[in-house]
Amino acid sequence: MIKDRSHHPIVVVGAGPGGSWAARTAAEKGVPVLLLEKRKVIGYPVRCAEGMTKSMFAEIGITPKEEWISNTITGARIISPSGHAVLVDSSHKNEICGWVLNREVFDSELAIMAAQSGATVHAGTGVVSIKKRADGWELSLIHTGKRISITADVIIAADGFESQVGRWAGLETLVPFKDMMTCLEYTLEGVKGDHRTMDFFFDHNFCPGGYAWVFWKGPKKANVGMGISGARLGNRGTVQKHLESFISSKPDLACGERVRVIAGGIPTSKPLKCTVGHRILLIGDAARVTDPLHGGGITNAMITGDIAGRCAAQFIQNGKDDAYLKRYDKEWRMRLERSLYLHYMIKEYIGNLNNDQIDIIIEALSHAKLDSLEPSTLIKHVEIIYPQIADKIPQLV
Ligand SMILES: Cc1cc2nc3c(=O)[nH]c(=O)nc-3n(C[C@H](O)[C@H](O)[C@H](O)COP(=O)(O)OP(=O)(O)OC[C@H]3O[C@@H](n4cnc5c(N)ncnc54)[C@H](O)[C@@H]3O)c2cc1C
Repeated sequence: MIKDRSHHPIVVVGAGPGGSWAARTAAEKGVPVLLLEKRKVIGYPVRCAEGMTKSMFAEIGITPKEEWISNTITGARIISPSGHAVLVDSSHKNEICGWVLNREVFDSELAIMAAQSGATVHAGTGVVSIKKRADGWELSLIHTGKRISITADVIIAADGFESQVGRWAGLETLVPFKDMMTCLEYTLEGVKGDHRTMDFFFDHNFCPGGYAWVFWKGPKKANVGMGISGARLGNRGTVQKHLESFISSKPDLACGERVRVIAGGIPTSKPLKCTVGHRILLIGDAARVTDPLHGGGITNAMITGDIAGRCAAQFIQNGKDDAYLKRYDKEWRMRLERSLYLHYMIKEYIGNLNNDQIDIIIEALSHAKLDSLEPSTLIKHVEIIYPQIADKIPQLV
C-alpha cells in the first residue's frame, strides 16, 4: 500500500513498455522508484498490432523471451494497390526477421522486471492531478479506491499517447490533428495466408494517408488493422468502414472471426520541442517519439525510458542537480531525432502520393534485391531508381 503523504524520489506514471523500462533502469541504479499504472491489469487491454523486428530488439539491447512471443516472422512485404510487392524473405536462410508479440505478457513481464530490480509497482493506481512544488511535485492518486496525495522529487511521465501529465506540467504536447493516426484493428481467427510474413498494404483508396497491416499471431490468427491520417479522416466510423472493405476484398481474411477489436491513436508528428520540464521527463508516446512512418512505438518508448531512468537516478544521486534532467532531452535527441525527422518527411511524402505513383515505386522496388525493409534501405534503392524523388527528401527537412 502507498502511504498518504509519503515521499518518493522518482515516480513513474504509466506501466507501458516505456514506464516499466524507465523504472527498471532507475531501480537498477539503486534509487527508490514508484511505478504507477491506472489499469487494473498491466498490459490489458492491448492497444497494439504487436509487431517488432529483430533490429528493434537489438536497438533496445535485449533478446525477446519465448513467452513474450506469439509468432516468429521470417519475411515482410510492402504491397501496392495493384498487388506489386517488395519482399524480404529470410526463410531460406532460416533467419528470423521479427516477431508478433503477446503484449499482455510482454508488458506484464517488463513491469515484473522493474519490480525485480527494486521498483515498487502498483497497478490500479491512477494519477489524477499534479501540483508543482519548488522541490518537485505533489501527485493526487486514486489508490485502492481512495484519493491520496504523495510527493516526488521527479516524475517520469510514461502515460501514453493520451498523456495528460505532461500537459498538466505545462509542457507543449499537442499533436496536430493531421499527424494523429486513428487506428482500428481486429484480431481475426480462422484466416488463411503465410503466417511467417508481415504484410503492409499501401493503398489510399482503402487507407487514406496511412497503411493497412496483417501481422500473424499464429498459423490461423492475425492482427489485421489500419491507421488513417487525421487529415483524411471523414465522418465517425470512417476507419471501420475502410477496414471492413479492406477485409472484404481479401477472401482469406474475410473468412475470419473478429475475436478482438482494438481502437487507438498513434502520434506521427515531428518530435516535440522540449520533453523536460520542472523536474519532469516525458518518455515514449507521451513524448511523441513513436516512429512517424510506421507508427511503431515500443522501441523508442523503451529507449527513452532507459535514458530517462538513468538521468533521473543520476539527478537523485548527485545533489538533485537539474542539469542531469536536462541531459535526458539532449541524449534521446542524439540517438533518435534524425531518424524521427526523416521518417516524418517520408510519411508526409507517401501520404501525398496517389495510388498510381505508389504502384510505380513499389513495382520498381520489387525488382531490387533487398535484405531489409528498413526505411534507410528503401531510400537507398529509391535513390538509384528515382533520383528525382530522392532529391525531394532533403527539401522537406
Ligand atoms: C492500433 C495500434 C497498433 C500499434 N502497433 C504497434 C506495433 O505493431 N509495434 C509497435 O512497436 N508499436 C505499435 N503501436 C504503438 C505502441 O503501442 C506504443 O507506441 C507503445 O505502447 C508506447 O509505449 P508507452 O510506454 O509510451 O505507452 P503505453 O504503452 O500507451 O502505456 C501508457 C500506460 O500509462 C497508463 N496511464 C495513462 N494515464 C495514466 C495515469 N494518469 N496514471 C497512471 N497510469 C496511466 C496507461 O494505462 C498505459 O498502461 C501501436 C499502437 C496502436 C494504437
